[in-house]
Amino acid sequence: MNSKSFTVSLKHNPAIAVKVIPGHFTTSHFHLTHYLDLDNLKNNSSLARAVAKEFARPYLSTTPIDTIVCLEGTELIGAYLAEELKNDGLSVVNADREIYVLTPLNNVHKQLMFQSNTQELIVDHNVLLLVTSISSGITVKSALDCLAYYGGNLVGISALYKSYDKELEQKFHYLFTSEDVPGYKMFSPGKCEMCESGRKLDAIIMHGGYTKI
Ligand SMILES: [Zn+2]
Repeated sequence: MNSKSFTVSLKHNPAIAVKVIPGHFTTSHFHLTHYLDLDNLKNNSSLARAVAKEFARPYLSTTPIDTIVCLEGTELIGAYLAEELKNDGLSVVNADREIYVLTPLNNVHKQLMFQSNTQELIVDHNVLLLVTSISSGITVKSALDCLAYYGGNLVGISALYKSYDKELEQKFHYLFTSEDVPGYKMFSPGKCEMCESGRKLDAIIMHGGYTKI
């Protein structure tokens, strides 16, 4: 693996930065030219709070939110985001609301589900979805299916990173995109330029981290 890692920062808030490692990576769906270490943004409390402030901005003055649904380890950001949305100095629509932060479970069919005692926080409630990254769109689709099943009203989706090349609806907000990472490419496994040039895989990306091969 190429050890020349570098950092990409958010232009208007450079404190929010991501370490990027070039290499030949595989996920269960794609081969990638870079790994982004997004864990720091989710697990470092100062950074998670800074991210939450960014995530809150599009909703502060316009969108009532009842429940934040956290996927892919975004709970810490979710908690700060709830506080930020309720900040009465900033928010006119959520200051007096109770905002709940929930994580769905995976059932035996790998579908997302909520347990009976938390379903009432989704039904007919305004739901904001937090995810780490949008790449294949599979995670988001499964979350949207789950919210639709329980009758939640999706008001927005916020992600740390978007490498999905299709245009997304206005409901999507994200901090970084693949355009922020010079040379970033994503390939279907059978069409990977690095594989075709005989380059061996460096690591497998799973659950947000990577394991060297
Ligand atoms: Zn490859």
